[in-house]
Parts: sequence; structure tokens; C-alpha cells
Amino acid sequence: MKTQLEQYTVAEVTKGFVYNELEGKGLFGLDGTLVIQPEFQRSYLYGDGTKDVAVIDSLLKGYPLGLIYFVDTGDPSGPHLEVLDGQQRITSVGRFVTGKFAIMRDGREQTFGSLPKEEQERITGAQLLVYVCTGTEAEIKEWFQTINIVGIPLNAQELRNAIYSGPFVTAAKAEFSNSQNALQQKWSAYVKGDPKRQQVLEVALDWVASSKDQSIDGYMAAHRTDTGISELKTYFTTVIDWVSGVFTAPPDAAMRGLDWGALYEEHKGTAYQPDRIDERLQDLLADPAVNDHKGIYPYLLGGEENPRLLNVRLFDAPTKKAAYKRQTDKANAEGTSNCPLCAVGSNANKTRIYKLKEMEADHVTAWSTGGDTSLDNCEMLCVTHNRSKGNR
Ligand SMILES: [Zn+2]
Repeated sequence: MKTQLEQYTVAEVTKGFVYNELEGKGLFGLDGTLVIQPEFQRSYLYGDGTKDVAVIDSLLKGYPLGLIYFVDTGDPSGPHLEVLDGQQRITSVGRFVTGKFAIMRDGREQTFGSLPKEEQERITGAQLLVYVCTGTEAEIKEWFQTINIVGIPLNAQELRNAIYSGPFVTAAKAEFSNSQNALQQKWSAYVKGDPKRQQVLEVALDWVASSKDQSIDGYMAAHRTDTGISELKTYFTTVIDWVSGVFTAPPDAAMRGLDWGALYEEHKGTAYQPDRIDERLQDLLADPAVNDHKGIYPYLLGGEENPRLLNVRLFDAPTKKAAYKRQTDKANAEGTSNCPLCAVGSNANKTRIYKLKEMEADHVTAWSTGGDTSLDNCEMLCVTHNRSKGNR
């Protein structure tokens, strides 16, 4: 790979600047020869009124904006330069000179057009130091992973989008990474993460890839040159529709971020009664003994067979101590073991008095059949008997 240092003025780089408000990205510059956001770049994140303003302040103060990297793709017809690093800075400058946001100067709001001429010229005349790189796609992408250490680091999915860039990634981003997509709000009840940081896309890919025993990387590699995303989209929609069909109440916060893809694969063949599910769901959400609300969903989907998923609150130390004393006093008076199960057997431990630390608390009436976590429902068992009893 070759690199060559070039200098461009802000005026040159922002000539013909186009910003796409809907997709939140700068598109072209350098009079149509520069692609500001190739597929492997992320959406514009500087438009927060702080980072973008800081870029303009730097230029007005004559500070350098730091190194910028372009790739020369060598295609002489049309845009042949792509921004490898510096997209956020260039987009900020481009948006400012095209009047997309204002800054404060001496206590007054100023757009580019309202700035004094010498300040406008200070911005447009500022020199940008640009390394222009040429090389194979593989070389450039590998290098991109190494240089992208400044600013906000790329996350795992942003890197995958860079590595497997192509028509599939473009189409997938248009669907899953567009925060303007009206469906994002519905999805956000079940899927955690920022669409602009590719985290919704990551979940969608993970679900469909996992259903085929593939990794996200493997799936993206296999579909890299696809022009459509119908399988990805259909699978994701199917999972979301399934969840919202089984759990019909307005989604609880605990639903967000669960591995719904895996739960769908495991339970898609089961018929559920949504009214019955909802009744149990509301009971469990309101039950103070249930520590893990995220566990409620797999618990209900699995037919309430695995209470461990709920991380049910255990007996506290004072309750255990009180139950131990109650049983041990009675056992001493009757000359039997203080483990009620040892006491009724015909074994060597029939009259054994266990120490508190040799015993565990058990629900007399199992929690899953309505027993509560109070002293009345607490029974101390020796470790062996408690472990063999299992279901609490
Ligand atoms: Zn026992």
C-alpha cells in the first residue's frame, strides 16, 4: 500500500458538499470526486451541538484538525476518493459552510453566512492534511482497523460492516441502522442498542446467523454480494412478531435485550394462550420474591418448569436462624434429628443434631406452587436431603 501526503483547503474539500439529513450522513465533496461516507463508515455522530461546534472553533482559532485519510480507489470515472478517516470532521465542516448549524461568537448565534468575511475565509482557507492511500481492498481495510483508534472507536459491528462492505451491508444498514425508520420504536422494546452504532443490525444478523449455526461474520461473508436482505429482514420480523404475539401486553423493560432469536428457535413450535400468559406474567412481575425479571420470559415460554430462571429470593439469615431454633428445640425434646427427613428415616442420622451451617433452608410449599418465602413456610434440611429434594 502507498500513501502520499496532500494538502487541501476546506473550500476545496467542501466544494459540492452534499448532506443527507434523512440518513444522517455527508455524501460527497471535492467537487464530486470524494465520497465522504463509503459503506464501511458509520453514520454522522458529531451533530450534537458540541463536537461539531468544536470542529469549527478549532478552525477559527487556526488549530489543525488532525490527519485525515483518503483512499484512492483508482476508478477514474466519477468519485474515486473515499474518506477512510476524518468523515466526522469533514461532515461537520461541510454542514457548517452549507448553513446546517450555528455557533456562538461573542454571545451571538452565527451561521457561516452571518460571520464576518475574514472569519469565513479563515475557515474556507484552512489547510487540511490528507494522506491519500492506494492499495488492495484487503490492505486498506486491514489498515483501517489499525488507524481507527482516535475519536469514538468502532464497535464490533461497525468493524464488520467495514470488512464485509458491499451491497448487502448497504441494504441492511438502510433497514436496520436508520433511526428514522418508523419501526425502530417497536423494535426498541425488544432489542437493545443504538441503531446508528449498528447495534440493531448486529442483533438482526445474530438471530438469523445463529438459526443457521453460523457466526455473524460467516453470515456476512456468505451474503456479501447479495443485493437484497430478504432473509435477514423476514427472520427478524418473524421473531419480533412472534414475541409480540405471545406477550401481548405493552412490553416491560425487562424484555429489552433478551435473546429472542434463540427463544424463538426453542419455542416456536409451542402453542400459547396469550391471555393466560399475560395473567401469569403480571403475577410474576408483581411478585417480590422474583429477583430476575428477565428470567420470567424464558420461564413462561418453557411452561414454568424451571423456577431457577427467576432467581427466586431465598430465606434471609434471621429467618433461617429462627427456623433452625424452632426445629432443634423440638428435636432435642423428642430425641430425634433436627432434620425432619433424617428423623423419619431408619438411617444412621436418625437422631443426629446438625449445626446450622450443615443445613439449608427449603420451602415447605414450593415457591412455584404458591408457597411464600416466610418463616411459616421455611424448613431447615440437612444438605443431603435438601439437595436431593431439588425443586424449591
Ligand atoms: Zn436429613
